[in-house]
Amino acid sequence: MRIKDIHLKVILDSRGQSTLEAEFFAELKGETKSVISSVPSGKSKGSYEVVFLEPQLALEKFDQVKEKILARDFVSQKEFDDFLISLDGTSSKKILGGNLILVLSMGFARLSALFQGIPLYQYLRKELEGFEVSFIPVFPFPFFNVINGGAHSGLRNEGKNFLDFQEFQIIPQVKDYSVGLSVAQEFYKKLQRFLEEKFSKDQVFLGDEAGFSCPFSSNEEALEIIFELIKKAHYPLKIGLDIAASQIFEKGGYRIGGKLLSSSQLADYYKDLINRYEIISIEDPFFEDSFDDFSNFLSLFKDASNFLVIADDLTVTNKERLTTAITKKSANAILIKLTQIGTVSEALEVVAFAYKNNWKAVVSHRSGETLDDFIADFAVGIGAWGIKAGAPAKPERMAKYYRLLEIWQEINQKS
Ligand code: PEP
Ligand code: MG
Repeated sequence: MRIKDIHLKVILDSRGQSTLEAEFFAELKGETKSVISSVPSGKSKGSYEVVFLEPQLALEKFDQVKEKILARDFVSQKEFDDFLISLDGTSSKKILGGNLILVLSMGFARLSALFQGIPLYQYLRKELEGFEVSFIPVFPFPFFNVINGGAHSGLRNEGKNFLDFQEFQIIPQVKDYSVGLSVAQEFYKKLQRFLEEKFSKDQVFLGDEAGFSCPFSSNEEALEIIFELIKKAHYPLKIGLDIAASQIFEKGGYRIGGKLLSSSQLADYYKDLINRYEIISIEDPFFEDSFDDFSNFLSLFKDASNFLVIADDLTVTNKERLTTAITKKSANAILIKLTQIGTVSEALEVVAFAYKNNWKAVVSHRSGETLDDFIADFAVGIGAWGIKAGAPAKPERMAKYYRLLEIWQEINQKS
């Protein structure tokens, strides 16, 4: 496929910070067509993620390689991505920047789907199958992050929100995505009314991912509120958590409720919460290098094969780190963030490797998002177990949930 032109520019993300948007142009049946992609960015980033360049600098880097890209014909996603990887030449992608490489990789994927006359999710499914993996695709369960703590609370630094955990999620337990979405939207409104009554309206804020951020006194208080609201209305919802434990890791321990806990005390604390609040998944329960603590924790759930221990900062969508995690049995699901690795084909290779080892995949947005909905297609394309895109609110989060709805309807009309 020949790319006619690429325009790269700087736009603002949901936090008002600069990020990259790329428009790819190509001739298709005598007409010029174009596709647009943009990249999000994280706040509680793993240390082993690829390097993001300051967007203005990325524009300069792009000028240096643009003609080389346009001069070539690429036959596959992998060939395009490998070309960018070779232009960069480093494993951390620090020369061209993971953000520049990714926005180009996404643009190429979108353009390829257009050329093949298929939706993006189908294109991504075909690409994944190229890694010779067999899997039973499911329609991803959405993980809605309705209460924001930790680095995403916005209030923590002002000493107002005492949630150590970063994400308090609700996960619909229904197969019909459209039903799950509307239940989550109803729950979110109910939660807002409850919090406004409890804390008063001027104390209810939105965190980075559009979940509520209030002066909660403890993790248990937030869990109790969600749990009680679910029970009272018999909502088909379960609770998930992202601890983002690297953020609370201090002097070899974990800061919880102002106290420093050892990893085994922390595991006991989780066990108690899991039982009390019927929690079904925990992401990053320990810090980013603690493969063994993850592994001891996972071994507690031998008989509960449905409980998910999800690795995010531990594995950073990186095949080498995933290999260690698989060898050590550190988790049973991997969070997939395109931004952590920087190309579509490397992310697909990681998914294929995870599936071959019977791990589940959960696709994720970043806390600083754009209106791009690529990850919705990605999640459906790879038949992911789940997708997390924040609360069911705010345009940058809803863009993903609405795209999923569109795909859900498309798939179900056909069958
Ligand atoms: C996460 O930790 O899963 C997350 C989405 O946070 P961020 O994008 O800030 O890294
Ligand atoms: Mg995380």
